[in-house]
Amino acid sequence: MKNLDKSVVWHPFNPLKGGWENLSVKSAKGCTLYLEDGSEILDAISSWWVTVHGHGNERMAEAIYKQALELEHVIFSGFSHRPAVELSNKLLDLFDRKFSKVFFSDDGSTSVEVAMKMAIHYWHNKGEEKTKVIALEGAYHGDTFGVMSASGKGDFNKPFSNFLFDVHQLPFPNENNFDKVKQVFTEWCSQGDVAFFVFEPLLQGVAGMRTYTPNMLNELMQIARDHDVLNIADEVLTGFYRLGKPFAHSYLNSSADLVCLSKALTGGLLPMGVTLASSKVVETFNNNDINKTFYHGHSYTASPISCAAGLESLKIFSEQKTLDNIQMIASKHEKAEKEFRKLKGITRINRIGTIISLEIEQNQSGYHSSIRNKLYNAFINKGFLLRPLGNVVYILPPYTITESELDSIYNVIMEELVGLGLCEKV
Ligand SMILES: *Cc1c(COP(=O)(O)O)cnc(C)c1O
Repeated sequence: MKNLDKSVVWHPFNPLKGGWENLSVKSAKGCTLYLEDGSEILDAISSWWVTVHGHGNERMAEAIYKQALELEHVIFSGFSHRPAVELSNKLLDLFDRKFSKVFFSDDGSTSVEVAMKMAIHYWHNKGEEKTKVIALEGAYHGDTFGVMSASGKGDFNKPFSNFLFDVHQLPFPNENNFDKVKQVFTEWCSQGDVAFFVFEPLLQGVAGMRTYTPNMLNELMQIARDHDVLNIADEVLTGFYRLGKPFAHSYLNSSADLVCLSKALTGGLLPMGVTLASSKVVETFNNNDINKTFYHGHSYTASPISCAAGLESLKIFSEQKTLDNIQMIASKHEKAEKEFRKLKGITRINRIGTIISLEIEQNQSGYHSSIRNKLYNAFINKGFLLRPLGNVVYILPPYTITESELDSIYNVIMEELVGLGLCEKV
């Protein structure tokens, strides 16, 4: 298996030579991955930030199975089906009807790609030319070309730099620079040529699970609105209780014009993305002019099976047991933070809802930092899937995790940070 994998499969984010070994997983249940070689690994990061209801969830599996027997696929142009309609209706309810329509696509990248295309199309429909975009420094919006352009510049997209469109990169806001950030943002917005502002609300994932405050985002969104710039909120990671509340939007006092969801949307079982559009955006498409029609669709748009997974996932979210466990994770993280603060060698701790991140002091920074690989391997060897982002260690667990599993994760992080000489107990 191992050798065949090496010879025939091209894995993402891994050098073809000298990269890390891809471990073969046979099955998974709850938060545990069972490897082909008989060993076990505790999943502390919800697989690739998607698995919210635990691995091998029987209710989710049942929902998918039933739907596959009833209707597995139907072309979504000219046809529709109950799971897509019900899911759309429920998602709009969850956002208190601040949005008026749901557009389906395939994953996180395409959900943001769709939002960006809709925003550009919106100005086209209104007969106004806007050619500029504002995004946050260090952003990650996915791997297709449009969203790569809106993402922070780095090793991931360097080979493509000549093919990416120009974007104003707004410095990541913090208490010290926020006045300056607002000033720059306002200047850009007032030039009248900005089509949209796209951002990961309250928490940037790939940049190192770093947070900024609802107040800051409220202010930025208001400035954008005042200058007729559309707001696009990429809630691909933050959606579905990742930040403790249903959405990052739950912390804000206004809503974006477009919002993107994926990752936990299907409970982490199947790929699907959605873009929710406000009536302001939808209105400009609301006519029978072919030039004002949105020509975008994927073969698997609104897969009935993915929609059924989404519906079952929402049912699980509506149950007290799920919400209690999310609350349990948040309060355990809060206590753990106090312990981590006792370590010398940590330069930043950010915590919001079910996510806690620790930035480890080091000379060299960035994704390819050497301590990243050291820590990753050390955690794997101890039986934990923790995947540092450069020098940032974070926990982003499935919501089914138990208190003792969480304790074992905090402990292994403490042990390895001290054991590898990266931190000291004081
Ligand atoms: C993961 C992620 C994406 C991309 O989603 P894919 O499903 O990997 O294409 C976009 N935005 C954010 C904030 C993400 O975390």
